[in-house]
Amino acid sequence: MMSAHGRSTTPVDDHLARILGAVAPLPAAIVPLSEALGLVVAADVVSTLPLPAFDNSAMDGYAVHQRDVVGATAESPVHLPVVGGIGAGAAAIDELAPGTAVKIMTGAPVPPGATAVVPYEWTDRGAHEVLIEQAPVVGQNIRRSGEDVDAGDLLVSAGTVLGPRHLGLLAGAGEGRVSVRPRPRVVIVSTGSELREPGQPLGPGQIHDANSTLLASAARAAGASAYRVGSVADEPGAFLETLQDQLSRADLIVTSGGVSQGDFDVVKAALKERLWFGDVAMQPGKPQGFGTVDGVPVFTLPGNPVSAYLSFQLFVLPALRTLQGRHRVVHPLRPARCSKGFGSAYGKRQFVRAAYDAGLVAPVGGHGSHLLGDLAAANALIVVPEETTEVRAGDTVQVLLLDEEF
Ligand code: AMP
Ligand code: MG
Repeated sequence: MMSAHGRSTTPVDDHLARILGAVAPLPAAIVPLSEALGLVVAADVVSTLPLPAFDNSAMDGYAVHQRDVVGATAESPVHLPVVGGIGAGAAAIDELAPGTAVKIMTGAPVPPGATAVVPYEWTDRGAHEVLIEQAPVVGQNIRRSGEDVDAGDLLVSAGTVLGPRHLGLLAGAGEGRVSVRPRPRVVIVSTGSELREPGQPLGPGQIHDANSTLLASAARAAGASAYRVGSVADEPGAFLETLQDQLSRADLIVTSGGVSQGDFDVVKAALKERLWFGDVAMQPGKPQGFGTVDGVPVFTLPGNPVSAYLSFQLFVLPALRTLQGRHRVVHPLRPARCSKGFGSAYGKRQFVRAAYDAGLVAPVGGHGSHLLGDLAAANALIVVPEETTEVRAGDTVQVLLLDEEF
């Protein structure tokens, strides 16, 4: 496909395929559970122990032979001698003789021979002799060894993002450490001689650097460690020096700005021999660059904040998720009803900032890729296929939900 100025353009999916062909999961590392929250499991974890590890009581009460208490009621209670007490953590438990009861606490091992636990509430709580007013069924209030997880059962599978519940399961099953993909280290560099750090006053012609905060935050939200280098002036030498400095600490580098057709397109000037640069058939976000430098994937995104953010969601995020060893790397698309019509350029995949709620979506704000206010008001992108030139109110469209976990 040729663009207006005669350069060939790359379809979005081809560019993504080029990127995914160049990245692989980071080598696995074994970390303590305390460091594993939010990381991705590198290999299936199978339980070496049953959970519960032994038969134990679900209630505070009395362990009994169930047949001894069958028929117990308030009117005709059953009396049993209490032969001892078993607390949580007790070892070496004697067999329970028929016709006797033993006091037992929640979590304490059930003595051999006992077939049910009578909760305190059904008794007179006697210390030497207990009066039982209601009969449990066989097995009642006994938590069986292995009823939750058996030895050999899968605890978590490779690709799982470890959340509190997974970590609780691993801990409960006795796993102190887990093999995960380390958090990818992402370095973010803004380029542009006009850029100033947020919080600093602006001189004439200057603007605040929005992209490095936007992109570093997006990388963190995706589970990476992000280092924000700040901004580099439009001088190829200075840019290359910064890039070189960062290579050793980065699993992935994202730059923004300096990749279009301007006179000071520093990134392109500095890296044109080493990376692919070209136009991708999308709007916004057309000028892109990608390649590896010393084995580190480098994304050179366009400078307009909306274009940079969108490019992150479409191209950087799948690479990041591949480094993490995740199975699903590309944003899923969901159907939604569009409540407002709009036009779209033929031959380009259009990504329209939109507000989505409960199956309904509407474009927000204007077209300009500099419109940070509109971007912040959006929570979705309407993805308009290359061949579609018009979306009418009421049409079903495909929507990418920007904050969706997937
Ligand atoms: P460029 O691709 O470098 O020509 O940048 C395109 C547009 O995006 C220009 O208006 C830049 O001033 C603006 N821009 C570039 N980088 C940033 C940034 N880090 N934060 C906000 N705007 C930027
Ligand atoms: Mg620039």
